[in-house]
Amino acid sequence: MRKVSVFGSTGSVGVNTINLIARRPDDFHVVALTGGHNISLLAQQARALRAEIAVTANPDLLDDLRELLAGSGIEAAAGRGALLEAAARPADWIMLAVVGFAGLELSLIAAQQGSTLALANKESLVCGGALLQQTCTRHGTRLLPVDSEHSAIYQCIGTQDKEVERIILTASGGPFLNSTHAEMERATPEQAVAHPNWDMGQRISIDSASMFNKAMEMIETFVLFDVTPSQIEVIVHPQSIIHSMVGFTDGAIMAHLGPPDMRAPIGFALNWPDRHDLPLERLDFGTLGDLTFRHPDKTRFPAIALAEQTIEMGGLAGAVFNAAKEQALDLFLARKIGFLDMARIVETVLNSPQPTADAPVLETIIAVDAEARTRAIAAAG
Ligand code: NDP
Ligand code: MG
Repeated sequence: MRKVSVFGSTGSVGVNTINLIARRPDDFHVVALTGGHNISLLAQQARALRAEIAVTANPDLLDDLRELLAGSGIEAAAGRGALLEAAARPADWIMLAVVGFAGLELSLIAAQQGSTLALANKESLVCGGALLQQTCTRHGTRLLPVDSEHSAIYQCIGTQDKEVERIILTASGGPFLNSTHAEMERATPEQAVAHPNWDMGQRISIDSASMFNKAMEMIETFVLFDVTPSQIEVIVHPQSIIHSMVGFTDGAIMAHLGPPDMRAPIGFALNWPDRHDLPLERLDFGTLGDLTFRHPDKTRFPAIALAEQTIEMGGLAGAVFNAAKEQALDLFLARKIGFLDMARIVETVLNSPQPTADAPVLETIIAVDAEARTRAIAAAG
């Protein structure tokens, strides 16, 4: 039996992960499950999978969680310290599906286990990619990307990483693919969250509408696959059937196809290095219709150019980029700024004097993150 833990089990990626684990109760022993506000779902998952411990990030909810788990023999814990302790509990496979910068420290602790880290939390790679990679290498931890594009790229590359010429990241284009600039200026959180193809958490859905999600994924690609910025291309593919492509030095291009269902990359990471049956719709090419492609409109989606700038800047620019983007998203959700103001704020923060740190450590990244959030609030006026 493999020991598994799921961080962020109550979220969109987390629930899909739990569904796959629950289908094979004889294969997995669940160590820790963690969530935030949704403790009723957390307790339900922990009972169903007989987890050792359930942790909520919110200390105020500890008593309620204890009550929900009463008589089950499952440990209940709460707060940041309890989350970090849970990440240090030995497990063979750890899913990191917490959203946002809060995931970085958990990823770093999980990476010290020398097991398999299935990483959905893209912020870990954008903010602390070099540090996380070093930690994985030092402890012999295998990092498997769960973002669908990066799982696709990982699978396309196989063992031929030395022969990669280009990586082609596909983007759905989100709900505003065909909107005018004026419509995007007026866009509301309700319009931005409505993704045409993927069912995801609120924050990543809005990031998809602004293409900040694709921008994060460009940085993620740079960190994960040892390519130069000019080897990374973004192409809009509204059907979300090709999850990304890799071009090799002989001109051949490998593409990864499948229905837009996160259980595909989650299941790949769960079953790696094997493949097992997954409950996914099978593609029927006779009825699939057209697969179309076009270049992204960098004027309406400035996030793409901002990601290119961030990669060129290097150092801790990724942490600055992510913090400014997370703060701008909070302001947009609070209706204090418009949809396109998010990119303006990130641009202003990126173009302000940058911190210099050659050997990134967590404390420095946390300080850079906090500073960039303050600057983002100031930039919002
Ligand atoms: P959700 O918002 O749906 O879920 C986030 C999870 O993290 C929930 O379990 C939530 O708990 C928990 N959480 C929230 N804040 C904190 C915190 N401060 N500390 C600890 N736990 C916290 O997000 P998604 O599942 O959509 O995304 C998770 C990660 O995966 C993100 O980094 C995202 O970018 C990435 N990703 C997601 C994809 C998707 O399809 N959704 C695709 C590719 C990548 P609760 O809900 O109980 O409050
Ligand atoms: Mg993705």
